[in-house]
Amino acid sequence: MIQLYIPLGFLGVLYREIKQSLTDLEKMFSLLEKEREVADAPGAKPLVLDGPPTVRFENVHFSYEPAREILHGLSFDIPAGKTVAVVGPSGSGKSTLARLLYRFYDTSNRANGEGRITINGQDIAEVTQSSVREAIGIVPQDTVLFNDTIEYNILYGRPEAGHEAAVAAAEAAHIRGFIERLPQGWRTMVGERGLKLSGGEKQRVAIARTLLKNPPIMIFDEATSALDSANERAIQAELRQAARHKTALVIAHRLSTVVDAHEILVLENGRIVERGRHADLVARGGAYARMWALQQAGND
Ligand code: ADP
Ligand code: MG
Repeated sequence: MIQLYIPLGFLGVLYREIKQSLTDLEKMFSLLEKEREVADAPGAKPLVLDGPPTVRFENVHFSYEPAREILHGLSFDIPAGKTVAVVGPSGSGKSTLARLLYRFYDTSNRANGEGRITINGQDIAEVTQSSVREAIGIVPQDTVLFNDTIEYNILYGRPEAGHEAAVAAAEAAHIRGFIERLPQGWRTMVGERGLKLSGGEKQRVAIARTLLKNPPIMIFDEATSALDSANERAIQAELRQAARHKTALVIAHRLSTVVDAHEILVLENGRIVERGRHADLVARGGAYARMWALQQAGND
């Protein structure tokens, strides 16, 4: 009975509003899923970036589950404006390092006053999470896109940058042509319920997003692993350019991309087993030298 008195136009608006808030809720939950692990300390203040950031890992231990420690006390610095590279076999803990710096998780031993990760001397667990993430751009190993347009996905992190900036970033990430050939172009819906992008396309979206955000700290976690080698070489050049004068953590599967790094860390089973510059590590004839020889032989 009552429904008869409700104008149909009103129902339409109501439907759209409910649908929109469901979409927003979903967006929020997909973020929260990663974020529920950590919370801001009471009274946390934003990170103060009063100069180019130096990142420091101090005796970092970490386990996802109490019974199995993944990182066994890692210490290293990424000096302001330098690139530190992390290499090592799959499962050695490289992505875990990246996740800790982005603060998806806290270190396991921070209760003992140890296991700190600092940016310009400030413990990232003691400042607001949002301010840490504002300072960092991450190209994760597996990018999950938002259920929204491809433009939204690229502008995410700096929406005020506008369309032209998104186009320039997409160009640098070699995804512009792909986007503009889509029937709906920049307005194409992507994500779980939109157009399914390949691993390489998603990586390029994440790279474009990070180039556009242009943060002082960059994390590349095998950022070009899903690309063919021609595309990979071209985009690596863009990434090297973008990371110049930035503080960067670069996780590499292809060693040719890290030969210029300020320091290379070789990770095995959650421990740094070798560290140094490329030439020194090759001369040393250890794990790194063997990986290098193998990749050279495969022309990788
Ligand atoms: P890499 O990036 O070097 O391949 P990861 O950091 O992804 O290694 O993983 C290191 C170890 O942590 C692996 O043994 C992996 O199985 C484990 N691991 C990774 N993510 C999780 C998780 N969410 N829960 C439990 N264990 C995990
Ligand atoms: Mg990984």
